[in-house]
Amino acid sequence: MTTEELWQAVLAQIQLNISPIHFTTWFKNTGISEKKDNQIIVFTPNSFVKEWIEQKHNKTILKILHTLDETIKDVKYIIKQKEEVPIKKEKFIINLNINQPELPVFKLNKETNLNPKYTFENFIVSSFNELPHAAAQAVIKNPGFVYNPLFIYGGVGLGKTHLLQAIGNEIFNNFSDKKVKYVPSEKFTSEVINAIRNKEMENLKIKYQQTDVLIIDDIQFLAGKEKTQEEFFHVFNTLYDKNKQIIISSDRAPNIIPSLTERLRSRLEGGMIADISLPDTETLIAILKIKSKEKMVEFSDEILYYIASNIKKNIRELEGVLNYLIAYQKLNKIIIDIELLKNLLKKIVVSIPKTTSFKKIVQVVTQFYDIKEKEVLLNCRRKEIVFPRQIIMYLLRNELKYSYLNIGKKFKNMDHTTVIYSCKKISNELEKNEKLKNDIDLIKQQIYNI
Ligand code: ADP
Ligand code: MG
Repeated sequence: MTTEELWQAVLAQIQLNISPIHFTTWFKNTGISEKKDNQIIVFTPNSFVKEWIEQKHNKTILKILHTLDETIKDVKYIIKQKEEVPIKKEKFIINLNINQPELPVFKLNKETNLNPKYTFENFIVSSFNELPHAAAQAVIKNPGFVYNPLFIYGGVGLGKTHLLQAIGNEIFNNFSDKKVKYVPSEKFTSEVINAIRNKEMENLKIKYQQTDVLIIDDIQFLAGKEKTQEEFFHVFNTLYDKNKQIIISSDRAPNIIPSLTERLRSRLEGGMIADISLPDTETLIAILKIKSKEKMVEFSDEILYYIASNIKKNIRELEGVLNYLIAYQKLNKIIIDIELLKNLLKKIVVSIPKTTSFKKIVQVVTQFYDIKEKEVLLNCRRKEIVFPRQIIMYLLRNELKYSYLNIGKKFKNMDHTTVIYSCKKISNELEKNEKLKNDIDLIKQQIYNI
């Protein structure tokens, strides 16, 4: 196995735990430059990235490398300029698998922002996603006129992005006159924020209002962002009135996305709502087969059955495990049998702890409630500030296991009894308040970049 393949195996694992945007930000143009005795030298494009990876990901990287090759005991990071980086950028962003060089390399389509690797040919349809798939087919035949909007929801890693992008690709290929645009809702939000700052809102609106098919992924992240919702609402109405197709995904149904303005919610509920549920084991095996075929590797049915029956809730995780096993086989030049598989699964499923930080929690919560970080950290008593502050305290206590005393220190030396009161208050409220539970779920997703 080459060092490049070894690094791809590490990336495949890391990718499971951080958001695609963060992943690209930090791991673009990184790689292994050499293996020296028991040490792996990892190159990074600049000191900023180097320090970030060292601080945030070193433990995980070492752990993964060590499970792949027990002789590896240490990782060192260096800076190497872009020109010297042997990995092609496009390949890096899309093909994180340990692919053979002859496999196709996909490039994002600049016009649509779609990734052509997501198609219906490599999308398995079974009872768990039959309804959204059928609705998608109807939309493809007649965009804008059948189900508008088409709203697809389902849990993490169950194929929403794949389905949305496959619809976009199909329409793009079949209707040369139609402008298709795919945008993750986080990107839409940051575009709105920038446009407001630079007074370019009109241009942004025009850009979106000119599309024939607008695809917005993970709309739950618009929760609480009123300004972005408002702009989206306008774009939505313009497109809708012109019979332009709108396709949306979310991790939950529109009626339980918290802090969504009523008028946007009712717009989202006005078309077809179709959910993706959990696939059964046979379907998971079919997916594993299609994915291993793409990577030109074959596993026995016994192996595939074992993987599928142990990782049931998330197809992305299933794929991550598959990539890991392919890397392991190559590196150690062996065929994995069922005993080895059992051991490996135990190791990798626990190998990556989820991480977050004080800074991240404050940032996500203040953004979520649309308030200023400064106000929440100072002694501001306004009600709209006090409540988010209590949530931050609750998360510091429950997610980061901070002591009450330490939490107090972060908030201008607040008395620890006040901190205890705040944490208890949120815990109690959570037991009876479904909306708050939803809010906190969403916040947790964001603090962990799921
Ligand atoms: P989500 O957007 O719901 O979090 P993704 O669309 O990113 O999930 O899917 C995660 C991974 O699982 C992707 O690599 C995707 O190709 C694969 N996948 C999901 N559903 C299917 C399916 N029905 N057939 C084949 N692959 C699938
Ligand atoms: Mg997705």
